[in-house]
Amino acid sequence: MLARDAASLLPVYARYQVVMDRGEGVYLFDTSSNRYLDLMAGMGVNALGHAHPRMVAAMAEQAGQMVHLSPQFSNRYTVELAERLCELSGMTGVFYSTGGSEAVEGAMKLARTFARQNFSSHKNRVVALRMSYHGRTYGSLSVTGQDKYSADFGPSLPGTTFIDRNNLEQLRAAVDEDVCAVLLEPILGEGGVQECSAEFLAEARRLTTKFGALLMFDEIQCGLGRSGDWFAFEQSGVRPDVLILGKPLGGGIPLSALLVNDTLFHAMGPGKHASTLGGSPMACRLGLEFLSIVEDERLLERVRDTGTHLSRGLRELVSTSDLAIEARGRGLLQGLELTIPGRPLCEDALAEGLMLNCVQGSVLRFLPPFLLEREHVDIALECVARLLQQRSPAGDRTLAAAGKA
Ligand SMILES: *Cc1c(COP(=O)(O)O)cnc(C)c1O
Repeated sequence: MLARDAASLLPVYARYQVVMDRGEGVYLFDTSSNRYLDLMAGMGVNALGHAHPRMVAAMAEQAGQMVHLSPQFSNRYTVELAERLCELSGMTGVFYSTGGSEAVEGAMKLARTFARQNFSSHKNRVVALRMSYHGRTYGSLSVTGQDKYSADFGPSLPGTTFIDRNNLEQLRAAVDEDVCAVLLEPILGEGGVQECSAEFLAEARRLTTKFGALLMFDEIQCGLGRSGDWFAFEQSGVRPDVLILGKPLGGGIPLSALLVNDTLFHAMGPGKHASTLGGSPMACRLGLEFLSIVEDERLLERVRDTGTHLSRGLRELVSTSDLAIEARGRGLLQGLELTIPGRPLCEDALAEGLMLNCVQGSVLRFLPPFLLEREHVDIALECVARLLQQRSPAGDRTLAAAGKA
């Protein structure tokens, strides 16, 4: 199967050499029935792990009723999910699309048309962060602050100014009358799990308000419960004009959402924007079920509790292993920065039944399902500690410390 995979699928993903067969809760099973503890959750999509009974039932029932419907028609689930998302976030209206990148595209179009309608066509610049990740389509790539993703595909869309995260001086210098939006991830995920400070977010809010630009938060990865709150911006007290959601929203069925405040509700009228597959009854029903399950099973509390346990363990690793230099993040979006390449360690972890992900070459990213428990964290940290110890010139202190975690 791996040979056929390599012969038939474009080699854009550095695929791990196992073939997965099915999942159950926080575990995945390969075709030889080997079990893996899944701390990757399909890049953050599988917030409820695999085959959650309520998601399975909702999906099966909806499959027998209606999977897709032209967005020109209304449907109960599409409306109810929009209402629910607005209630949770304090936003006013929703536009659905299929993936994160597509929702970012929508946000950029919205920002430019709103500025054109209310100011002038010169007001079209976007301020974004270095090390950010907003997707791979041309628009979203143009506001992604990492050259390695765009360099081979230029020219990018013009009009982006990149600044360093948490740099107030650069922020003040960048935002002026020509800026239509400041776009940022409150916690940069793919960029190595790096948080924006509350002070930086507040200054972005002040400047965007002053210059009539939109403050747009990309919470595709850090939102919908992963930070331990419904949205990562909540802790800062700063409210965006536009909120972008994706990844876990459709319970594994492609679904992303662009949420806007009341001022922006009518900025794009009939015919101005569209997504054929966006917001299908199936995806929206699963979105509603996902949100209900998070509430019914008190999963935000679980994310906070397990997340605290994880961050304590990661900090312990930093203090005991010379190969681990920083632990970052909150809730179930955390990173451990290493002094060595992360991928070989992830390969070894996989061979030991642990699915881990690595970003920025040397940051282990922990992005598990919200169902994860403290015991799972202990198992994972013990494995990471052991793998670090095997690579460490300084010997055996790491493992002893993991036992205490
Ligand atoms: C994954 C991600 C995207 C892109 O989403 P796709 O569904 O891959 O298009 C955009 N922004 C952030 C913060 C992400 O983590």
